[in-house]
Amino acid sequence: MDIVTDRKNKAAIENLRIDGERLWDSLMELARIGATPKGGVCRLTLTDLDRQGRDLVCKWARDAGMTVTIDKIGNGFMRRAGRNNALAPIVTGSHIDTQPTGGKFDGNYGVLAGIEVVRTLNDHGVETEAPLEVAFWTNEEGSRFVPVMMGSGVFAKAFTLEHAYAATDTEGRSVKEELARIGYVGTEEPGAHPIGTYFETHIEQGPVLEDNDKTIGVVTGVLGIKWYDCTVTGMEAHAGPTPMALRKDALQVATKLMQEVVAIAHRHPPHGRGTVGMVQVHPNSRNVIPGRVKFSIDLRNATDALVDRMDADIRAAVERASKESGLAISIELVSHYPAQPFHPECVQAVARAAEKLGYSNMPAGSGAGRHAGAGRSRLAPDPGSRTRARRRAPRAE
Ligand SMILES: [Zn+2]
Repeated sequence: MDIVTDRKNKAAIENLRIDGERLWDSLMELARIGATPKGGVCRLTLTDLDRQGRDLVCKWARDAGMTVTIDKIGNGFMRRAGRNNALAPIVTGSHIDTQPTGGKFDGNYGVLAGIEVVRTLNDHGVETEAPLEVAFWTNEEGSRFVPVMMGSGVFAKAFTLEHAYAATDTEGRSVKEELARIGYVGTEEPGAHPIGTYFETHIEQGPVLEDNDKTIGVVTGVLGIKWYDCTVTGMEAHAGPTPMALRKDALQVATKLMQEVVAIAHRHPPHGRGTVGMVQVHPNSRNVIPGRVKFSIDLRNATDALVDRMDADIRAAVERASKESGLAISIELVSHYPAQPFHPECVQAVARAAEKLGYSNMPAGSGAGRHAGAGRSRLAPDPGSRTRARRRAPRAE
């Protein structure tokens, strides 16, 4: 292809606009499968409803001239051929399973937006250089089977296919049985599928965009995470007879540390996060001074270096609190997920497009480690959002 035609083609693509109404109609039609009375969706992974959802999405893909490949963990890849099919495809997608009280847009928007892009290219007869694919990943939500982000996890070799197959729901039914039952065990080896570049459009799963009055969040990466268990050991004693000066109150010391977790996050803006979400007080009795308190700590930030600084801060705080109180305090790192910056060219592509189309936007970190990919949009009132770009698929919760 000569340069002139190439330029023309580029201009033609830049002037394309998707059909928003058609996308909306597809979103509403898919949301009818598993619709809940309050306007949400309950379509748990690998249920009959999930099969109906998958069947509908695959039908839409085939109607748009795409071929559908299912891999052994039930991930779907819907492909539109390019001019050079030896190139690895440009992939977009998300998930269509939902939480028990899920919304219409979480995940579904990312998959159907991809199909709408293909429909738009078809309408205008645009041929792309590399093939395009729209992916849906099995059990991203993890409400029925653990681990969460299962399909993308197997694809990215975070764990094995056998491990995923063996997972069971509360009624003892396994992923393998349920995949077979709904007819979505494919033949392709997970991960065998090449991916050139991956973008994911997702509704925001936090309040930041609304708070900043922006439409698009250009996600620059997934935050690094460290999880800890912290245990403060004091001495149980009766609340009445024990004078204040003679107490070893584990909860009083623990609450100071909990405040410190939040303070540390505030000292490392803008992406620092500090959360205590789980507390166990022993013996948990109204008139007994707590003898032992165990609580969780979740620290996050945009780079591993920043997470390490927060790590040093919490350890120093533990040491200080132990010295001051005379109580034994242990802090144990239980999980660590490194920060994952997305490829800068992909991030810039999302920012450029938002700018060009006149959508207000801002850089954003993905606080949740979810799904496969850079960007958010505040399109829809739902509990989640992201548009992400990266070279390969998924990561950690
Ligand atoms: Zn989602």
